[in-house]
Amino acid sequence: MKQIAVIGAGISGLATAFQIEKKLKESGVSHKLFIFEKEKKTGGKIGAVYENGFRCEGGPNGFLDSKPSTIELCAELGLSNRLARSSDAAQRRFIYSAGKLHELPTNPFRFFRSDLLSLRGKLRIIGELWAPGPKQGTDPTIAEFARRRLGKEAHARLLDPMVAGVFAGDTERLSLASCFPRMVELEREYGSLIRAMIKLAKARKQNPGTGKHGGGPAGPGGKLTSFDKGLSVLPDAIAERFRGQIHLNADLKKIGMTSEGFRLSFSNAEDLDSDCVVVATPACDASSPLSFIDEGLATVLDRFEFAPATVVGLGFDRTMIDRDINGFGFLIPREENRRILGSLWTSSIFSHRAPEGSVLFRTIVGGARSPELAGLSEEETIQMVRSELKEIMGITAKPQFAHVFKWQKAICQYNVGHSVRLQEIDERLSRIPGLFLTGNSYRGIALNDCTLNAKRVADDVTNFLKD
Ligand SMILES: Cc1cc2nc3c(=O)[nH]c(=O)nc-3n(C[C@H](O)[C@H](O)[C@H](O)COP(=O)(O)OP(=O)(O)OC[C@H]3O[C@@H](n4cnc5c(N)ncnc54)[C@H](O)[C@@H]3O)c2cc1C
Repeated sequence: MKQIAVIGAGISGLATAFQIEKKLKESGVSHKLFIFEKEKKTGGKIGAVYENGFRCEGGPNGFLDSKPSTIELCAELGLSNRLARSSDAAQRRFIYSAGKLHELPTNPFRFFRSDLLSLRGKLRIIGELWAPGPKQGTDPTIAEFARRRLGKEAHARLLDPMVAGVFAGDTERLSLASCFPRMVELEREYGSLIRAMIKLAKARKQNPGTGKHGGGPAGPGGKLTSFDKGLSVLPDAIAERFRGQIHLNADLKKIGMTSEGFRLSFSNAEDLDSDCVVVATPACDASSPLSFIDEGLATVLDRFEFAPATVVGLGFDRTMIDRDINGFGFLIPREENRRILGSLWTSSIFSHRAPEGSVLFRTIVGGARSPELAGLSEEETIQMVRSELKEIMGITAKPQFAHVFKWQKAICQYNVGHSVRLQEIDERLSRIPGLFLTGNSYRGIALNDCTLNAKRVADDVTNFLKD
């Protein structure tokens, strides 16, 4: 009987465990699988607070339904009828610039009427059709790419806030190829992003089944999707399948080698001998336990940088909000020098996030842009966010609900050199058969990436155990 240990019960660990279980059953490999989680709950970054009718997520808000991996996983778990799509209003997205919120234009006519960019900035975007290609053999930053193709203004007012919203990151340091590999492909295939958009839209018209769209103007394709009772429904459903096999409060301290495989040592759990280990923690947490078998691997893992982020949920009486909040929310360019990265109008995105007659906003603070603000106390953070929302949205009301979620290492930064670090890791892992690393530090930060990578790792584990 083969023993498998999965470390970390975030969505990566849970989805990987689910896929391994499925593949090994299909392959007829007799096995026992255990999951170890250092916290007292499963789900990792996924989790919400419920208070007086407010349901506020502390980490991810949802996943896009345009990529199949999470949707398929939900179907396998019998959760399809519990999926909740974001409202149509959520397609309206805003950028805060020069003292006001600008709705992102949905068509070329509105693009020219919008005053988010100057006429020169707009014409420069059209110049994208003739922008020079990339220098060969380099790993350009998102900022270099955006300025080269779209111009300085589009970088500062469109790309920079969007990247802050997704990665809480710095476009001057993030690698384009590691963060947005599709952009690199489109540039290579079509020679221009505008040309690519036109050709792909035409192809979609001719063949309506291909490639969903519905994320709104600057939104990614697909609809943001969650569940009737919030995102935890997904990890909870997987954890339920592994009842009796999950050890909570079990912090992995050491991975050692034996003649048969691995010996794992934990705080609060007995040592375990296993044939195979899947480490599904953030890279920074994998480093120390792995240093016992490969110091070089631990050194590479230590080089991954993380941005801190604080999520502040504030609920208000709807009648006290004197402006249109039908939309996804707004993001703020760095050049505005504000103290928040943006704010999501959560109760407009999903229903049942606030009680009748109330609204819920989730404001993001910190990131690579202003990491020092993630160090403020909860009270200071709430005061600061209230003062920002007052200046930006005119909200002076006292909140009915307030909750602060702090993530010291919120999101791994795929900075320039990320792909080289991944190669080094792969090379080292190839010398330690039976050891696998996964999680959103490596090949995609979104939930859809975690559930997609789960299948890839499960294939690798199955092939290893079958040999
Ligand atoms: C504020 C915020 C908003 C986000 N919004 C979105 C969004 O809207 N959509 C989206 O797709 N993605 C979003 N993301 C990214 C999303 O959260 C991640 O893709 C996903 O949750 C990562 O899952 P994971 O399992 O890889 O890591 P984690 O969720 O971090 O799980 C890792 C687990 O490993 C455990 N662990 C660590 N060390 C040990 C140890 N030594 N022993 C045992 N266990 C250990 C941890 O306790 C944790 O439970 C957001 C992230 C943040 C921080």
